[in-house]
Amino acid sequence: PIYFDYQATTPVDPRVFEAMKPYYKEEFGNPHSDEHSLGWNAAKAVTRAKEQVASLINALPEEVLFTSGATESNNHVFAATMMANKTDRRTILISSIEHKSVSEPAFFYAELLGYKIVELPVHPTGLIDMECYKKLLDEDVLLVSIMAVNNEVGTVQDIPALSNLAHEQGVLFHTDAAQATTNQLIDVLAWDVDFMSFSAHKMYGPKGIGALFIHTALLSSLPPLLHGGGQQNGLRAGTLPTPLCVGFGEAARIIAREIETDIIKYNNARKALINGLIKNKIKFKVNGNSSNTHPGNLSITILGFNASELVNAMQPYFCLSTSSACNSGTNSSNSTTLQRIGLSEDEIACTLRISFGKETNIKQINFLTKILARNTKIKKKAIQ
Ligand code: PMP
Repeated sequence: PIYFDYQATTPVDPRVFEAMKPYYKEEFGNPHSDEHSLGWNAAKAVTRAKEQVASLINALPEEVLFTSGATESNNHVFAATMMANKTDRRTILISSIEHKSVSEPAFFYAELLGYKIVELPVHPTGLIDMECYKKLLDEDVLLVSIMAVNNEVGTVQDIPALSNLAHEQGVLFHTDAAQATTNQLIDVLAWDVDFMSFSAHKMYGPKGIGALFIHTALLSSLPPLLHGGGQQNGLRAGTLPTPLCVGFGEAARIIAREIETDIIKYNNARKALINGLIKNKIKFKVNGNSSNTHPGNLSITILGFNASELVNAMQPYFCLSTSSACNSGTNSSNSTTLQRIGLSEDEIACTLRISFGKETNIKQINFLTKILARNTKIKKKAIQ
């Protein structure tokens, strides 16, 4: 089948896979064994990988904590900030369209540790309601968490503006950038964030590894994420998975060099699909924001056609989805983003998420348009 679900995950780039291979075989040493060459070689590879990942986001290597993925990074931000807080601040602001790996730990730790979570409303575009945000940012707020790019409709937030406002009030700022590494070169200094989560498998790297950027100023004030042998400067104990670290590093190196051409590719694919749908007289609505949006994402509502049924009917040829992978499997009305940007239950049930990647080409788009047109016409005939 042709893959159109790059926001759920991306394939491992063949160059990434090649770079990882030796660390499963001849270079299998424990990167924390410091008495022999196999250990030293693995340690060198991990150090280099951390430098590559840090360099992609303009951070220092010691500001990058390797985790198992964005879910773990997000969980840690809430646990760590709420536990380490020595001020009277007791409110956490999160956007109302966060991925569950942000909202679930936020509510969990807030209840456990005695904090209040307030969700920030968004406009129908998916952009944060700035007036409301400014009003809610007061001296009781400890931390703000707003995703950089939405995983369902692709809306890109203005992170520097949002973090600036938070810092004016002495508030910590975290962003979940799991979907943001493929549509822009991230600069954590320019973004002025305190924490940032991201994940290798969303950027042509392996599954099972991600990172949490922690600003140097905060490194010494946070409790460890995992207690044990003191690896990663005592912040997250456990033997690092050398092959995964190396793969993440290589994926970061490649994306830094190729992102501009990738973005052109995504934009062309998105435009071609929209034009194809128009040409085929399919009645659809594009969800999210018309300008600042991830070009690799297209969320469309085709009223009258149940998206689960469409995805299922087209499944032999295509991998498409109704909402985020973490919500799917039941039905698309589980989507919080679509609800929060104001779609009705009917519209949500008729919404497809199509995403484009490095491998997407015009031939595939034309085929998708053709099959989509066929599947949205058969039913029309049946009801006429
Ligand atoms: N945040 C967002 C916005 C995501 O899209 C995802 C992946 N679906 C995650 C977090 C979780 O990432 P991971 O799979 O690396 O835990």
